[in-house]
Amino acid sequence: MPTGSLDSLARPAGTAADGGAATRPLPDIARALRSTTQPRRCIVGRWLDGLNTTDRAEIDEWLASGGRKSSVVRVARSRGYSGSPSMWYSHTNSGCSCPVSAA
Ligand SMILES: [Zn+2]
Repeated sequence: MPTGSLDSLARPAGTAADGGAATRPLPDIARALRSTTQPRRCIVGRWLDGLNTTDRAEIDEWLASGGRKSSVVRVARSRGYSGSPSMWYSHTNSGCSCPVSAA
């Protein structure tokens, strides 16, 4: 009787369990891709949410009248905004995670 067959009988249980775990689908990713819940607001959106309506209207008016975004970024930074300037460009161009209607 070959001695190798005893070794192979002792091993398979562990390796089979590992292989099963690796090929299992990731339920979190599947759920996230199909999710219809509102995406999280970007850092700009969350900063704007913290302003009062007067200040928010002031910024909207400034941008709508062709005001420079860099001026808004400068003012925002002096009032607690800690994100990058580029986030302002993606936020105002609807390239962020904010719902379009609320941007
Ligand atoms: Zn945004």
